Amino acid sequence: MSTDDPLCCGRSARLTTGAEIYPRQPHLHGRHFYICDACKGYCGTHRGSTRSLGTPAGPALRFERQHLHAHVIDPLWMEAELCGAYEDKPPRVVHQIRKRARQRVYEFLADRLGISEQDCHVGMFDMTRCAAAAEALAGVDYPQIREWARRRDAVERRPSAPTPRDSIAAI
Ligand SMILES: [Zn+2]
Repeated sequence: MSTDDPLCCGRSARLTTGAEIYPRQPHLHGRHFYICDACKGYCGTHRGSTRSLGTPAGPALRFERQHLHAHVIDPLWMEAELCGAYEDKPPRVVHQIRKRARQRVYEFLADRLGISEQDCHVGMFDMTRCAAAAEALAGVDYPQIREWARRRDAVERRPSAPTPRDSIAAI
């Protein structure tokens, strides 16, 4: 047990491997997981490490998190270059647009939820926060988030000197 172990049900989750979590999926046996012995919830780790990807979750919470990712958050940034704001889209720029869009979506969500960006990871959300996130993003599209971010950046830059004219500034 270390201070890095994620908490669940009021105590540290236990480090284990895929052999315990997915006994019939040998390709996962070498991966690390954290399991909560109280509720049997689990979560994965960053590849090649024992650093957790969030907090343990049982089937219902895993479903909510996956739903939030696949149907609410990811669609906002994954094709951000098609939102109508960008004309010229060579592959390198598309990559930058999506990367920045992803960052802005999480910043926007953190702002709406009143939490820090550090805490704004779906893998750390409980049921209540999953529901709050879905509500906060309902009816919001990427152009709105982009406008929000650009206004925020404009305020933050003032009164410092000229707006940077690199390509990223236009994204
Ligand atoms: Zn638990």
